[in-house]
Formats: sequence, C-alpha cells, structure tokens
Amino acid sequence: MTVRVRIAPSPTGDPHVGTAYIGLLNWCFARRHGGRFILRIEDTDRTRCTEASAQAIYRSLKWLGLSYDEGPDVGGERGPYVQSERVALGIYRRYADQLLAQGDAYRCFCTAGDLDAMRKAQAAAGQPIMYDRRCRQLDPAAAAARAAAGEAHVVRMKSPLEGSFSYPDRLRRQPFTKTWAEIDDQVLLKADGWPTYHLAAVADDHLMGITHVIRAEEWLNSLPKHIWLNQRLGFTAPEYVHVGLLRNADKSKISKRKNPTSLLWYERQGFLPEALLNFLGLLGHSHPEGKEQFGLAEMGAFFDLDRINVAGPVFDLAKLRHLQGLWFRALPPERMIAEIHRAVDIQAGELLPLLRERMTCGGDFMGQAEPFYAQTVAHHPDELVPKGLDRAQARGLLEQLQAELRKYLAADGAQWTAAALEAFLRELLARRGQAAPGATAEQQAQAALWQQKAVYMLLRVGATGRANTPPLFETLERIGALRVIERLGAAAGRLK
Ligand code: GLU
Repeated sequence: MTVRVRIAPSPTGDPHVGTAYIGLLNWCFARRHGGRFILRIEDTDRTRCTEASAQAIYRSLKWLGLSYDEGPDVGGERGPYVQSERVALGIYRRYADQLLAQGDAYRCFCTAGDLDAMRKAQAAAGQPIMYDRRCRQLDPAAAAARAAAGEAHVVRMKSPLEGSFSYPDRLRRQPFTKTWAEIDDQVLLKADGWPTYHLAAVADDHLMGITHVIRAEEWLNSLPKHIWLNQRLGFTAPEYVHVGLLRNADKSKISKRKNPTSLLWYERQGFLPEALLNFLGLLGHSHPEGKEQFGLAEMGAFFDLDRINVAGPVFDLAKLRHLQGLWFRALPPERMIAEIHRAVDIQAGELLPLLRERMTCGGDFMGQAEPFYAQTVAHHPDELVPKGLDRAQARGLLEQLQAELRKYLAADGAQWTAAALEAFLRELLARRGQAAPGATAEQQAQAALWQQKAVYMLLRVGATGRANTPPLFETLERIGALRVIERLGAAAGRLK
C-alpha cells in the first residue's frame, strides 16, 4: 500500500499556523513511508471562502518548504483538488443520491424558522440541542415528489438510533466512543445543492486514495459520521488519527487574540521557515536523541506517527524566538544580509504611507520604524504622566486602558483597525468620562481623569515609548493588538 495523506484547509482568512502544523506531520509521515502528500482545498462554505485565501495557502506552504505532490496548483491524477470544482462535476450529489436510494439518507424540508423553534424548545426543556429527526418519518416517494416540484430541502444522514460507536485511535489509550443516540442526523447536502464538509471530505478522501487522515482532534466528534459514511458508501475507510490542537498558554485552542496565528505574520516578521518548522516539530514530536535543532529533511527521516504528542502542545513564542535565533545566527553572511534586506523592504513597504511625512532622508527610516517592530519599547516615566495627573493616576489609567482593550478584543468580531479603534475610544471616553447621577466624589474624580488629551497621550507613549508618532490610530493598528496591550502593561509597570 502506498501511503497517501492530505491536508484539507478551508480558505477563509489568512493561512493558519495550525495548517502548517498538521501539514508538517502529514508531510513527514509521507516522506518517512515513501508516500505522497496532497493538498486539497475545502471551499464548500461559499460565504466564507475566497480565492485570495487559497492563493495565500499555496504561497505559505511553498514558503515553508512543505511541498505537496498533488494539489490545485501542481495537478495530479486524482484531481481536481478544489472542492468547488468537484461540486461542478456532480461528484457529491451522486453520493447523496446513492444514500437516498439505499434508505441511508432522507430529505428534510424544515425551514430555518422550524429549526429555530425546535432548538428553543429543546433548550427550554433542558434537552440536548440536535435535529429531532421529524422529517425522517416522511414517505421517501412523497418527499422525492416535493423535491422534484422545487421545494427547498436538505439531505440528512440517517444515523443509527441505537448502539454505540467505538474507534481505536492509535494515539489514544482508550478507544473513542459515543452512543449513536447522541449523534445528529447530519446535513450532507445543503439546500443549494452543495455538500457539507462531512460528505465532501469522506467522498474525496476515498476518491483521492487517502490511506491515513492525520488531523486535529477538533474533528474527533465528527468521526462516527465519517466512519458511518464510509461504510454506507462502500468505501474502505482510511485510518483516522487525531493529534492535539495547538494551545494558548491558558490551554484554550490557539487563537489570534493570544498568539499570532497567521503564517503571513511570521513571514513578514522575518522568521525563517526552518525555525518555524523546527518549532512546530518539537510541539508535536521530538527528536529520538533529544536534539533540539533539526531540519525538515531530518524530521522526515525520523518521524514516527506513534510518538506524536497529543497532549495539546502549548504554543510558546519565546521558544520559537529561541530557535529562530539558533537558525538565524547560523546563516552564512550572504543569506543573513539577504534576510535583513528582506525585512527592511517589507517594513518600508508597510510603513511608508505612515512615515513619509516625517522623513527627510532614507537613513531616518530605521529610527522611525523602531516602535513598530521592536519587541519591547523603553518608556520614560516622566513622559508617561500627562499634565495635571500624578504618577498613580497615570498608572491607573494605563491599567484600565489595558483592561478595556483586552475586553474589547475578546468580543466576537472585534476589529483592530484604525477606524474601529477610533470609534471604540470615542465610546470609551464617553462611557468612562461621565460619572453616573448620584456618583460619589471619588467616582466623579475618577471620571474626570478620562480626558481625551490625557488618554490619547497615554496610549501613544504607552504603545510606542515616544511622544511624537504618526497619527495615533494608524499607529496602534500597525503595531498590533497583542503588542499594544503588552506595552501598556509595561508602561504601567514603569510607574510603580
Ligand atoms: N477543512 C477542514 C479544516 O479546515 C479539514 C478537516 C480534515 O482534515 O478532515 O480543518
């Protein structure tokens, strides 16, 4: 059997460091076993997927050196490798039709309103929220006639009602088990005729000859559906292996609020692909001799699927920086100089619109750019105390600003753009600068501190270490949320 493995990212947003992580494990497994590594683009969510994002995935994987043997932009015998192109070929509908004909799936005519009411009733009754299978009772011939007459519907899988599911994932001590009663009648084909991830992924893994699906454990709960689909469609299922999710220091799933997750960010920052892969390799795996620094080819030679660490490896940027230093300092001088030029070119491109009015010659650039890229900035305590405030008041404001920005960022859909930040700060000043009717003298004094001039100045100096910068909100946007928040804390610390 020739090993064939794949990664199947969905092209929404920037290419994700998790894709690189799972990609690395699959790439190594393929190399170790003389197999093939395949890239498939799963873009069946038409509202969220973009071509630009798919292009960025191709570019990032190339940048990293995780070359794929088959994929959208390199071709292969089992293509096309983009699911939207496969939808056009009718591939998924054929399988949905097969399941309908076998009595393993049914048409469901419930409207969004029906489903909403059902969920509310379940929530009120303290029942688990899942489809109550009411359309499963419909006569298939009558349902087919309604569909033929153009009535909107989805196709759902008829998951077993009794018994239980068990799967011996080779990385887990205990088999993964579920009772079938807790598994939903998953939608397989949406009302627009497009497949859901579940049907599309199972069909494609089969058609593309995938032998091992090595993916993140967030998909473990979907495994019963996938095994069932394989069985009902008559496929030999690949072996499914679920690896730990990358985690923030607080053990939550890695998120951009707590860590940079975009591969583009690492590239722009000048991280070397060798260092990033080495770092990811150490998260999920280890060198058999305990070596810290190793390259991709070496990892491809020693990789052992059974030794993958599933215990939710913590993504530690400091560790990455340490490895980056090792790789960077070992570069031959020409490559090091090329890396420096690359970094300066990227930074100049990003910052020029902000800085051009403030420069008189090219040599000014490095100094001006510093607060935007430096890991930390130095704060002068004197510059951090706005006129009319004392040190303790300035410190208190900095701490509260930090907390408010954290809270702002934690909300769903929070944007870190100049315009959004400006709107947020206006709202914040209005909210905090007004004492409620009947407020105590202390509360009134607190509110009086929230003057625009003082707050903007604290943000500026806190985020950059400087009293003179390009326009505040553009500056904050460019520096980035995590760094701004961190620096405000450091500034507050300087006033202790
Ligand atoms: N499209 C899924 C994702 O974005 C792929 C999951 C899988 O590997 O089966 O993560």
